[in-house]
Amino acid sequence: MGADGKKKVVIVGAGAAGLFAGCFLKKEGVPFVILERGDKPGRKLLLTGHGRCNITNNKSPRELKEGYHEAGSYIYPALNSFSPEDAMRFIEEELGVKLKEEENNRVFPVSDKAESVRSALVSYVGEENIVTGFCCIDMDKTEEGFVVISDKGEKVDCSEVILACGGRSFPETGSDGTGYKVAGNMGHTITPLTPALSSVEVCAKDREFTSAVSGVSVNADANLYCNRKKTATGTGSVLFTHKGLSGPAILELSREIPRNIASSEGWIELDFTSHRSDEELDRELLQEIEGHPDSKITTLASRYVPSSVADKLGERAGVTDLRAKMATRNARKELLKVLKHLSLHIDTPPAYETAYVTRGGVALKEIERKSMGSKLVPGLYVIGEMLDIDGISGGYNLQAAISEAFIAVSDIIG
Ligand SMILES: Cc1cc2nc3c(=O)[nH]c(=O)nc-3n(C[C@H](O)[C@H](O)[C@H](O)COP(=O)(O)OP(=O)(O)OC[C@H]3O[C@@H](n4cnc5c(N)ncnc54)[C@H](O)[C@@H]3O)c2cc1C
Repeated sequence: MGADGKKKVVIVGAGAAGLFAGCFLKKEGVPFVILERGDKPGRKLLLTGHGRCNITNNKSPRELKEGYHEAGSYIYPALNSFSPEDAMRFIEEELGVKLKEEENNRVFPVSDKAESVRSALVSYVGEENIVTGFCCIDMDKTEEGFVVISDKGEKVDCSEVILACGGRSFPETGSDGTGYKVAGNMGHTITPLTPALSSVEVCAKDREFTSAVSGVSVNADANLYCNRKKTATGTGSVLFTHKGLSGPAILELSREIPRNIASSEGWIELDFTSHRSDEELDRELLQEIEGHPDSKITTLASRYVPSSVADKLGERAGVTDLRAKMATRNARKELLKVLKHLSLHIDTPPAYETAYVTRGGVALKEIERKSMGSKLVPGLYVIGEMLDIDGISGGYNLQAAISEAFIAVSDIIG
């Protein structure tokens, strides 16, 4: 109970998860306060979707769950209880933010501004219900409920606590991992943490390649190799950057890059012609060479990749300026190698500063999946990125936060 003996919920963290939990409590008329360590609620929300906020992905819960890796079955009841359709209805009808759907079912505000979502959430919750500058470092379980304690020694009594402190990614937005310590103090296990949905830096030697074509995006499959074994694949497109690689295919596999990548041999192999086998591509290259004997061999390669990339691949293969009619079997083999097996080595693990989400977190075996309630501490709930759940890009992570907030509040109101 709160100090006055009445039900009062404390939400720790005014990110997406905490703000949505606040909205659902407000709708039900349950007293609550959101305690936020930063000076402004919803700072990470402003960065989402490149400032446009890809709030959800309009798929059925059954389809959507496939985007949460190992946690797909775990999160299904939450998605089923409050689906993307429910979330969209709530955002449009209750928050008054009109939405639109773009390719791959991704949903954005019509305004194309994340601020419109952030400010609608804050005004629905009510600024008077958000306390900023309160960094929770611990809590005590009492007979009546909890006492939530800040780093300055402030104390807030409540009947239930919802921990919504986020992960460790983009720590400048406030989610620096303190929440894990609070959950740990309450007896919860924190599974190993890794940056996920991150761009990847390649080693200095290979950076020469990526920086030369920085800003160019290509269709390619990306295969991650660690200790000479293929450990993950990302599909879609790859964006070359000054420091290495980004784009959907790279973001997808980044969660599998081990922290000790510097000491184990690791690389990303790009396949620019993934719909052909080596043999098929070889036959095709031979036909191209025979059909265009006077063309430069790199011009033939630009059938598969943009010409700036084809030129760099030609350099790698040692066939720059080579005319097709002069191409030996070996030259063709080298060209095939860079078109299907371009290896770019990694000696630095992805950083939290560039990761959209954190893999790992509060162990799911200790959290009831139908309510997000702690199995160890009755009255404690954990939602959002703090949990050991990370989704693919496309609105999956915000939808997870929204659905989890909904079932936690439903459990609290009974
Ligand atoms: C650049 C970027 C783009 C993204 N784009 C998308 C997208 O378009 N779609 C999508 O679905 N997902 C996107 N994500 C992921 C998504 O933003 C997160 O998964 C989501 O914000 C998690 O919500 P959360 O409330 O759990 O955590 P957060 O949003 O991180 O909020 C946690 C809050 O808790 C506060 N806090 C932390 N510790 C304490 C403490 N001890 N005491 C008090 N307060 C505390 C923090 O200051 C913060 O305000 C993106 C992430 C990034 C970084």
